[in-house]
Amino acid sequence: MSLLVVGSVAFDAIETPFGKTDKIIGGAATYISLACSFFTKQVNLVSVVGEDFPTSDISFLQSKGVDTAGLQIKKGEKSFFWSGKYHNDMNSRDTLVTELNVLEKFDPIIPEKYQDCKFLMLGNLAPSVQRQVIERLVKRPKIIVMDTMNFWMEIAMDDLIKTISMVDVLTINDEEARLLSKEYSLKKAAKKILKMGPKVLIIKKGEHGALLFNENEAFFAPALPLEEVFDPTGAGDTFAGGFIGYLAKTEDISFENMKRAIIHGSALASFCVEKFGIERLSTLTSHELEDRIQDFIDLVQFEMSI
Ligand code: AMP
Repeated sequence: MSLLVVGSVAFDAIETPFGKTDKIIGGAATYISLACSFFTKQVNLVSVVGEDFPTSDISFLQSKGVDTAGLQIKKGEKSFFWSGKYHNDMNSRDTLVTELNVLEKFDPIIPEKYQDCKFLMLGNLAPSVQRQVIERLVKRPKIIVMDTMNFWMEIAMDDLIKTISMVDVLTINDEEARLLSKEYSLKKAAKKILKMGPKVLIIKKGEHGALLFNENEAFFAPALPLEEVFDPTGAGDTFAGGFIGYLAKTEDISFENMKRAIIHGSALASFCVEKFGIERLSTLTSHELEDRIQDFIDLVQFEMSI
């Protein structure tokens, strides 16, 4: 089993109704790798940062079992920077700044030792780069999961559609599903998106849970009602990391197991939002995660005969 994560490693500046951060470590691949590390001790990372990225943060990822041989550090260049501001309901946000910096010319070099990749997670990144990664793998992975966002739909739709046609599972949020399919109904949107290539579609609905679709079936996983949501940044990435991490751990990519995988992803995401950035994920224990998965099971379990 080997799991490869590709995506942004970044600086983020976040503003929520509860406070504001200066530049903190973020990026899709950061959240995904951390989430995966709860399920497997072999997470391979392909990404790029600038010289300004603290080595202590790279060491931190390594301490969680993330192999950073594929993390390029570009001398004299700046790391990707993203800044966002959440609205009062915390379900929607405005992107204030996207500075691609090192991501602009990112050439995703895959170290030889990562070639044996069975589980590939394409985190948020230019769709042309995500595609390059697929093309550079000598053997197609057992499963390719891809995440993306509205930013790429606005500036690189053709590229995005090409890449989507090559993956097995696509994860997007409800707003993005509507944008991509031009359908308001999420059921109709799912039908259209599944025709674009992926066998499975996951639509994330923030505090309203997540929907899992394949051609014939649909499954809904709730989000745990939380007393406080402090910062939703990275929740979607954490969810995706938990999803593929669980599939990799169990080595089972059936639709039934994907249902369990989205519960694991949702449980991890519920921790992510409790504090700013990766703070909560950094201290999270496996025991706490298990307890929360039990909370999910309790939340939706009921007996009924019809
Ligand atoms: P999420 O809240 O799950 O949508 O993910 C937020 C993370 O995505 C932040 O840590 C950002 O650094 C990262 N991000 C935001 N915009 C982009 C982009 N255009 N490409 C790659 N990563 C991004």
